[in-house]
Formats: sequence, C-alpha cells, structure tokens
Amino acid sequence: MDERLPWHLSMWQQCQQRLASGRLPHALLLAGPAGLGKRAFAHRLANALLCETPAAEGDACGQCRACRLLRAGSHPDHRMVQPAEDGKVIKIDQIREISAFLDHTAQYGGYKVVLLEPADRLNVHAANSLLKTLEEPPGASLLLLVTAHPARLPATLRSRCQLLRFEPPPPTVALPWLQARITEPLDIKALLAVAGGAPLAALQQASGERWRRRRELVECYDQVQTGRLDPIRAAEIWTEGELAENLRWLIGWHTDLIRLKMSPNEPFRLSNPDLRAILWRWADRQAPRRLFERWDAAVQLHTLCTTTQTNVALLLEAFLSDAAEVVNPASC
Ligand SMILES: [Zn+2]
Repeated sequence: MDERLPWHLSMWQQCQQRLASGRLPHALLLAGPAGLGKRAFAHRLANALLCETPAAEGDACGQCRACRLLRAGSHPDHRMVQPAEDGKVIKIDQIREISAFLDHTAQYGGYKVVLLEPADRLNVHAANSLLKTLEEPPGASLLLLVTAHPARLPATLRSRCQLLRFEPPPPTVALPWLQARITEPLDIKALLAVAGGAPLAALQQASGERWRRRRELVECYDQVQTGRLDPIRAAEIWTEGELAENLRWLIGWHTDLIRLKMSPNEPFRLSNPDLRAILWRWADRQAPRRLFERWDAAVQLHTLCTTTQTNVALLLEAFLSDAAEVVNPASC
C-alpha cells in the first residue's frame, strides 16, 4: 500500500519489534531533513497499526476494511492534523479535537492513530495543550509527530516523545534507488549531493528542466561577478520560478566556497561536486572573511525572501550588486 523505502528498513524493523513486544511508545517524533520520506514512514506505520490483517513483515495488507477506509481517508480511528492553510500554524482547537478523539474508545477496538505534520507549526497554545494529552496518554494510541525542524518544538514536548531520527542513507543505498527511477541522462551522484544526500529531494529535482535551471543560475551568478551581466537583469532571472529553491542552491554554493577556501588541499565532500571548477574560480578571487560575509548574506536573503513580505527584487539586486562590486572593484 505504501512505498517501502530501502533506507527505512532497520527503523521499520525496530518499530515492528517494539510493537510485537508491547513497547511501542504513545508518541513518536519523526525528525530529520526533508526528502527522506518521514511522512511516508508515518503513514506506513499508521496503516500497519490499523490494518486488520497485516502482512508478515508488519505492513498493512491494503485489502481489508480498515485499509479501504484509510485509503478513502475515512477510518474512524485515524486522524491527520495539519495547518488549515499552507504556511500557517496548527491551532489549539485542532489539538482539543484530537484530545477528545483520543479519550474515546477506538471504534474498531484496536489502535487510535494521530499523524501531526509539520509538528514545528504547532503554536504555543496548541503545543501546551498537546503536552497535557501526552502527560496522560490514553490506552492503545499512537501520536506521530513529523518535523524537519525538531529544535523548534518545545523541549518539554520533545521529551515526551520517543525520537526516530532520519538520516540521509549511504550512497550505496541511495544511488541504485535513484538510478532505477531517473531515466534522463543526469549526473545522479551530483544530484544526490546537491540534495544533501536526501533521495526523495534528489528525485524531485531530477527533471532535466530543474537541473538546467540550476546551470543557468550558476552561469548568471558568474556573469554578474565578472561584470558581464547587470545585477538588475540578473535579479529578474533569479526571481523566475522556484525562488526558495534557487536561494537554497545559492547558500549551497557559498557553503562549498568556504569549504574550498578553508581546505584547498584536502579531499573532502562538496555539496556541488559538478560545479567544482567554477566554484574554485569564485573562491580564488575572494578573501576568507569575505566568503563568510557572503555566506551570511545568502542565508539572510533566503530567510527574508521566504518568511517575510518583502521586496524580493530589491533584496536580490542588492545582493547581486554586492557580488559584482567586490569581485570587480575596477568595474564600479
Ligand atoms: Zn489491511
């Protein structure tokens, strides 16, 4: 019913062992970078707990009454909690509803399962309310909290949950999985590195279109730095399409610039191995202190553009003008 991601195997087996021995906790915190399949794992576990005839390895059968209801989103012992709108918070009323749901006996006599995502969007009142529920956990119930930013949750809440930490799998696991899914002739190793080792994030970026877009932005940034492109025109190019992703790429390049500058003679892992030559050229022109300042500026630019109502074009122009001025003092 749910895709079994190979890098989840040992975590899945652990959960099954705990379930078999009656040691499954009431609350699990599924934490780790985006693109590792935390949500898929939470769904798989929720479905497995509610299925009436689970398969040998513990997975939901996909056929029984419970599985059919889950697929239709109408299983009475299952709840999803998410912000009402994208980017908004999870409110206390939503948590009160969940507490009431957990207080009642399961309609099908088994587990009651709540999947809450992203858990870092709980507002402070909702988090406090959830904490109370976790202090007196009701019978056979499981709360699955999913987040890429566990540090944003109150420590009191985190301490009530058992942590399931998701880490990027080794390339020996991730690369064959990606190779089986990507048909375009792309540099899959580089793609995985750019995605921070997260296979699902890599797969998402694996359209030739996005990969070409990244190349285009590299070229654009290079032209600005060498005085061949006006920063105002460059800012227009940067704002086209997925701005947040464009800016994440920018931060990744600046992280690599610092790595190259600080350890030029050591073998080490770059996040953008395919851009090594051009990054080397950029790093070579700038003093270490300057590289750290630019990294800071890139992070700030990403934060401002993705979390505030701001004039993105102006901020980008300022950032790109600064890139042009310092690298080419003679041209300004
Ligand atoms: Zn089933």
